[in-house]
Amino acid sequence: MSLGGIEAGGTRWNCAVGDGEGGIEAAESFATTTPAETIGRAVEFFAAHGPPSALGVGCFGPIELDRSSPHWGRITTTPKPGWSGTDVVAMLHAGLDIPIAFETDVNAAAVGEARWGAGAGLETFAYVTVGTGIGGGAIANGRPLHGLVHSELGHVRVPHDRQRDPFPGSCPFHGDCLEGLASGEALRQRWGAPGEELDRPEVWELEADYLALGLANVVLTLSPERLIVGGGVAGTPGLLALVRERLPQVLAGYLDAPQLHEGIDDYLVPPALGPRAGVLGAIELARGAA
Ligand code: ZN
Repeated sequence: MSLGGIEAGGTRWNCAVGDGEGGIEAAESFATTTPAETIGRAVEFFAAHGPPSALGVGCFGPIELDRSSPHWGRITTTPKPGWSGTDVVAMLHAGLDIPIAFETDVNAAAVGEARWGAGAGLETFAYVTVGTGIGGGAIANGRPLHGLVHSELGHVRVPHDRQRDPFPGSCPFHGDCLEGLASGEALRQRWGAPGEELDRPEVWELEADYLALGLANVVLTLSPERLIVGGGVAGTPGLLALVRERLPQVLAGYLDAPQLHEGIDDYLVPPALGPRAGVLGAIELARGAA
């Protein structure tokens, strides 16, 4: 069976057709421009490959996931210009007329990691991506975690020492939430250069401190069996090792679990599927919709 997946990011859309067993038969990636142009390109790609039996979409957001809502399938309050209120599922369905599963981008990546990656065999884990923005989703009791809306782990609040770090934060909604202090955009605004050009130790020590504080919130609320941390900023050499040092310090011995001490290298890990987690997870979601 041929299945389609879209990792619909705010910067790029990655489209792929796969067999549902982890293989990818065709793929295309393009920049996120206007909704009409971006969704139109996705429709063209999938139409030229069948179309597949079903499509899974892991979408940037916030999005509406409630199937009983008339707004299901839409992006809701994104700060990305032109995309608020975009009915992603309806526009794809109008072009392809196939069943569509709709998830957050980070939950889709978590689904991919659950099936083939670092979350395989786990009931409850979190997937956090630290890139231009910070997002986080979770598999809880074997399923993507939904609730009132969906997890927005990037926007948790963390202590902000304004003496040490006077930068006010880059989040257009909250200023100094985790994303506002530790995303790639925050790095660029605070230090005047993108993360890949920053190699001073104080940059990455501060970054590791914020990520450890944010991840401690995730550990304390969700009690995940593993933290999978991906994204371009998280891939900075040495950063995850620093966060592994800081996280147990933030938790201060309160949780009695060896995974948070001698087992930390196996607890806080990069995604095993690397940058393919999102699109493979979207294809796995398609399998459930077919
Ligand atoms: Zn925020």
